[in-house]
Amino acid sequence: MSFFYRSVAASLIPSILWHTNGPSVHLTFDDGPHPEATPKVLDILKTRDLKATFFLLGENVERYPDVAQEIVNQGHFIGNHALAHVSLMLKPFQWQSHQIEQTNKIVRRTVGQTPQLFRPPFGRFDFRTIKAAASHGLKLAMWDVDAKDYAISHIPTIVRRVCRQIKPGSIVLFHDNESTSPVLPEYLNPILDDLEHRTIEITSIIL
Ligand SMILES: [Zn+2]
Repeated sequence: MSFFYRSVAASLIPSILWHTNGPSVHLTFDDGPHPEATPKVLDILKTRDLKATFFLLGENVERYPDVAQEIVNQGHFIGNHALAHVSLMLKPFQWQSHQIEQTNKIVRRTVGQTPQLFRPPFGRFDFRTIKAAASHGLKLAMWDVDAKDYAISHIPTIVRRVCRQIKPGSIVLFHDNESTSPVLPEYLNPILDDLEHRTIEITSIIL
């Protein structure tokens, strides 16, 4: 998402979460559950005793229910990332609403937790998305630091970008999916080392 679009959206729609006002940094992982990438993230977070927020795709929860359950068992929070990884922007209200509602139902049925946060696939949304999310009791949760781990394979670039941009209240976007799975620990560990060194507290997003 471009800086311009983000700035305009942030000023027009203050109810959308782009960062928080507290001292903590919030780690978020999109696109799971994934049978290989998600356990890697869970192991790293467990070793460091950290909690994060996982924005799950409904269809992946149905495919890998045990992985979704493990996220909850380890004390993390689950957010809604729609049913399939398709842009909601400009789609009819009913279609968007269905994507959000079905995912909440699947998550609730599978792990017993009801998501309160919604993150649209690709970060693309319109006013119908906000209305549809609100109609199911969800608030849009975006980010202010994008690791761009889905696009860049050069590990030092990812680490530098995230460490430079993080500040208290930041919501950091990572991905636990097919493309990041092979290299996830290589950038996640040095980023968490840096935050630990700077004594920045890390928590999941709690409303
Ligand atoms: Zn995504």
